Amino acid sequence: MNDGTRTQKLEQVLAKAADGERLSKPEIIFLLGLSTERDLAALFRTARELRARHFSNKLFLYGFVYFSTWCRNDCAFCYYRKSNDLPHRYRKTDEEIVEAAVSLAESGVHLIDLTLGEDPFYRHRGNGIQSLAELVGKVKSQTGLPVMISPGVLSKRGLAQLAEAGADWYACYQETHNRQLFKSLRLNQSYDRRYLSKKQAVEQHLLIEEGILAGVGESLADIADSLNSMQELGAHQVRVMSFVPQAGSSMSAWPTPDRLKELKIIAVMRLLFPNRLIPASLDVDGVEGAQARINAGANVITSLIPPQLGLAGVAQSSKGIEEGHRTVRGILPILEGMNLTAATAEEYKAWVEKERASVSLMHSTGELGGAR
Ligand code: SF4
Repeated sequence: MNDGTRTQKLEQVLAKAADGERLSKPEIIFLLGLSTERDLAALFRTARELRARHFSNKLFLYGFVYFSTWCRNDCAFCYYRKSNDLPHRYRKTDEEIVEAAVSLAESGVHLIDLTLGEDPFYRHRGNGIQSLAELVGKVKSQTGLPVMISPGVLSKRGLAQLAEAGADWYACYQETHNRQLFKSLRLNQSYDRRYLSKKQAVEQHLLIEEGILAGVGESLADIADSLNSMQELGAHQVRVMSFVPQAGSSMSAWPTPDRLKELKIIAVMRLLFPNRLIPASLDVDGVEGAQARINAGANVITSLIPPQLGLAGVAQSSKGIEEGHRTVRGILPILEGMNLTAATAEEYKAWVEKERASVSLMHSTGELGGAR
């Protein structure tokens, strides 16, 4: 395609997205394949304009508490896979978790993201999930903030217990929607079971976050399929993170991808999900990587972690945490430098309540929603 034809096509596709029309798979692949500085600038500009239309100049801030690094699974890309002897394994007590959550709330985050591996401790028959549900209740009442829980695949009953305890969000990443690739990434796990868990979470009126990894062997068509699956699922938050090779994992020798790929996916996500939440995760490149992701259309800063509490990140288990860089104080000057600002806790709560009310309404009217 020559320059003139490409520019004309790009203008058409961006105008279509700006008008709220659904983009076709070939159009998504076309956007993901852009490479010139001028084309990319136009893509990112449109993404920022759409973000501003729905969220003004305000971003949301998420506190992250990775409270158990134990896991029964062996995902090929993960540092905390059960067969890896290198990670420091820990399981924080409820008191330690609440302390971290309160410290994050006091620092100004808008949500507490409680994350753990598929830790057998919280899955044993008896009161495994119940203790997780009680923890959600404690964190919610002590912080007064919405809570996201990322516990891996759960039963319908387990999801109901978490929803009853006050969870607002269920995060569970497929990482790819190519079944063959899934099989090589999430070893010995069921694609369908994982996907079903998210559908069942929506039935419990929870908001859901779906996510993919960039740079794990996926094609542009796979990414377009993932974005389509996210639309079908009705995900309220969609995330992409660049793969980071982990010592001791079976993908330790894989290269980390050029970050431009992640930035293009963020921008295309904004075009497809203009009024949804899209994270700029500090877990890949620390605060240094925040600006580029925000410029691409992200509107949530995730993986803010309180220092000096012995908590880890996921993709970058220690980057910038103990130095206190991954904090509200560390991120605010970056937002200010971009003429952006943090929303208030009330504004975030209002967004969550509005979306949860809309999920409940869809259930009560029996309408499962066009996006699902
Ligand atoms: S990605 Fe999650 S489920 Fe997979 S090994 Fe790591 S912690 Fe466990």
